[in-house]
Amino acid sequence: MKKSFIETIDNDKVGDDMFQLMSELYPICRSITGNGVVESLNILNRHLPLTIHEIPSGTKVFDWTVPKEWNIRDAYIKNSKGEKIVDFKKFSLHVLNYSVPVKKKVSLDELKEHLFTLPEYPEWIPYRTSYFKENWGFCLSHNQLLEMNDKEYEVCIDSSLEDGNLTYGECFIEGEEPDEVLLSCHACHPSLCNDNLSGVSLVTFLGKYLSTLSLRYSYRIIFIPGTIGSITWLSRNETNISRIKHGLVVACVGDPGMSTYKRSRIGNAEIDKAVEHVLKNSGKPYEIVDFSPYGYDERQYCSPGFNLPVGCLFRTPHGQYPEYHTSADNFDFVRPEYLSDSFSKYISVLKILENNKRYSNTNPKCEPQLGKRGLYTAIGGKSDTNADQMALLWVLNLSDGQHSLLDISERSGIDFDRIKDVADILQQKVLLQELQK
Ligand code: ZN
Repeated sequence: MKKSFIETIDNDKVGDDMFQLMSELYPICRSITGNGVVESLNILNRHLPLTIHEIPSGTKVFDWTVPKEWNIRDAYIKNSKGEKIVDFKKFSLHVLNYSVPVKKKVSLDELKEHLFTLPEYPEWIPYRTSYFKENWGFCLSHNQLLEMNDKEYEVCIDSSLEDGNLTYGECFIEGEEPDEVLLSCHACHPSLCNDNLSGVSLVTFLGKYLSTLSLRYSYRIIFIPGTIGSITWLSRNETNISRIKHGLVVACVGDPGMSTYKRSRIGNAEIDKAVEHVLKNSGKPYEIVDFSPYGYDERQYCSPGFNLPVGCLFRTPHGQYPEYHTSADNFDFVRPEYLSDSFSKYISVLKILENNKRYSNTNPKCEPQLGKRGLYTAIGGKSDTNADQMALLWVLNLSDGQHSLLDISERSGIDFDRIKDVADILQQKVLLQELQK
């Protein structure tokens, strides 16, 4: 027997579990294609049953083409004494992601053209990619660069860039209705915690939890490489796209910053209202930002040809924290308590979507007589009976087919759960009739 959405979960435990999963994924060198993604999906598959899709290099996906598959075995820089001073095997960010193979001796001047550092944060190592322009390079701390004064160095990048596949993982959780909620996260970054192992981990445990529930909506969870992954997924799922009624892009959910919601392109879709309601009632600081055509995969879901109701719920937005795309996006920055706070907000949002129905009042001409139906006692006996009375009157009054329970909660200022409980009672008493969409 599956549980209802109402039951509570152990938030501390789920924060620790997410953190543990991130630790397991962290050392792996992921990219937009290649074995790192496959290895990561295999780990996720232990928690959530995934269908693994492989799309061959060269496949046309709208205006784009699936790239060659990149794999890397080793990379290092050796000094004139033969000592490895930069070693990819110790840290995946050390190599320019998608570097073509190279093995040669180079002068320091030539090498410097292939080195990336962050002078403003001299201890940190940047994360850099070169997906669509063939190049090779290394990333290291600026302090380390300042210490390099040999005339010649040996560089080796044992990688391959060949025809292969783009791999992504998909989990479908069937609900009562064919209508779907899309949860999408990019899983293409190497050793970076907030962006986006936090998202990968949150979505995995969200899926695991949803699988235990009796659900109204069906849920589609996808782990894809950023940009090219969502473009590929959309191009392969275009015929069924109208089933997606709500969606969230999940990223940057483990840092200490406040929750931030980026609205869908539609701007006032049900998902937008649900997230804004949850953040407004969370008792914690939050920020709402309007859609803009820059960011994560919402750029593709909200392109004009799709215009899906997909928003993005994160904490500090990408690019707005100095640790972003650097080695400092690590386990000091992302903590279990922030992961669990984000998790509970996602649960609250989904709980609203699951329960946000519309009803019509079966007795709309004047108030129905509540006493004779036992409605004062049905919800009486609680310390806050007065609030229940008000909820009952609001639900009856606004159940005109135009207002959802969330609309009623917003307009009345009464907690969504209370509105939902009252609607259930009124439905049992045949004073409300559920409307199909
Ligand atoms: Zn990123």
